Amino acid sequence: MTDTLTNWAGNIAYTAKELHRPHSIEEVRALVAGSRAVRVLGSGHSFNEIAEPGSEGVLLSLTALPPVVEVDTAARTVRVGGGVRYAELAAAVHRHGLALANMASLPHISVAGSVATGTHGSGNANGPLASAVREVELVTADGEVVVIGRGDARFGGAVTSLGALGVVTALTLDLEPAFEVSQHVYVDLPLAGLDHAAVAATAYSVSLFTDWREPRFNHVWVKRRTDEPPVDFPWAAPATAAVHPVPGIPAGNCTQQFGVPGPWHERLPHFRAEFTPSSGAELQSEYLLPRQHALDALHALDAVREVIAPVLQTCEVRTVAADEQWLSPSFGRDTVALHFTWIDDTAAVLPVVRRVEEALDPYEPRPHWGKIFTVPSAVLRERYPRLGDFRALAEELDPAGTFRNAFVRDVLGG
Ligand SMILES: Cc1cc2nc3c(=O)[nH]c(=O)nc-3n(C[C@H](O)[C@H](O)[C@H](O)COP(=O)(O)OP(=O)(O)OC[C@H]3O[C@@H](n4cnc5c(N)ncnc54)[C@H](O)[C@@H]3O)c2cc1C
Repeated sequence: MTDTLTNWAGNIAYTAKELHRPHSIEEVRALVAGSRAVRVLGSGHSFNEIAEPGSEGVLLSLTALPPVVEVDTAARTVRVGGGVRYAELAAAVHRHGLALANMASLPHISVAGSVATGTHGSGNANGPLASAVREVELVTADGEVVVIGRGDARFGGAVTSLGALGVVTALTLDLEPAFEVSQHVYVDLPLAGLDHAAVAATAYSVSLFTDWREPRFNHVWVKRRTDEPPVDFPWAAPATAAVHPVPGIPAGNCTQQFGVPGPWHERLPHFRAEFTPSSGAELQSEYLLPRQHALDALHALDAVREVIAPVLQTCEVRTVAADEQWLSPSFGRDTVALHFTWIDDTAAVLPVVRRVEEALDPYEPRPHWGKIFTVPSAVLRERYPRLGDFRALAEELDPAGTFRNAFVRDVLGG
């Protein structure tokens, strides 16, 4: 490529020899059938080399495909194109009086890229975003179109696929009737005496934020569906000013707080869709572990907080319900997700990432596929009981490994 193409954070420069923006599915099929190494670039919000096809490979961006968002109000489903982002999807779904069950912190990420990496929001009963997917349409390595829906024995590998099965040209998602959410923020919650299970259970979606400068949470964001009981939060005081996830940053880009009810898609993300962050001076890591270890894991992080704090912008604690995607970091276990937004200095951050991984290791964390981690792949493989099934599916749909880049080959081994 003549111009350097990077991910959103700018820490990864893709070395692909070509970037294509096909305008039709026929063009996607021809490009894939004629290439030996292909990866799709979604909205580029991952922080590692998961999307990198290698210097002999081809990157496909689906942003020039028709931005399909077909809502079926009777069936309560939506069929969404492979290049569409949550912001556009959510607005269209809401216009039909319908809703997605949950969203991630940022609405600007692509739907296909998000579900490919196990992206999630928060909520004890909310699975990752992939759990809304009921059908996947793929262009596989031979240029053929394959449709895999719930009920197909291959479905467990088809959604959270790390982009390794083919080009996802469309996904069909479950919807529900639109609902309203009110967002309340509480400040200064001490770690000492924390009843994490009770705090996480106060509402539909709960996030705790700490900068680890002290053993306390700077704030707790509580997103309550207005059709559920009022929040009882006896552990900390309500915020008196709007806050940003990173303490001290102005809250202008954040979704409405102070309990003002609003549509689901304007409260579940932390950031407003109208604010478009083109790049970000940050790196991210995240570890998902069994929820029953939440408190022990938080105390393990507290024990190394003097190492963490100097390179940390904010740490967010969320919950995710168990799901059944074989490569989902929340596969088979109700999860607590420990997220870190680091400063944008890879050399300073990496040693701290290793310290965090050591601290959390007793709880068998699974790293977020789209963020920075150093857990060896042999260890990762032990943490995914269906990984062998996924490898077999990848080999069945893509015998020559057109979509298996270095990242995927390392993860799958064998
Ligand atoms: C500011 C910010 C906030 C974030 N918030 C959250 C959060 O709240 N929760 C969370 O869990 N994660 C979060 N993330 C991580 C993010 O959701 C994931 O990295 C996600 O994969 C981003 O989607 P993308 O389209 O940008 O993916 P990319 O980085 O572009 O791609 C990710 C993977 O998906 C594959 N892919 C993308 N599109 C297709 C397709 N059509 N067909 C086949 N493969 C495809 C790519 O090849 C690659 O393997 C956040 C990231 C940022 C930068």
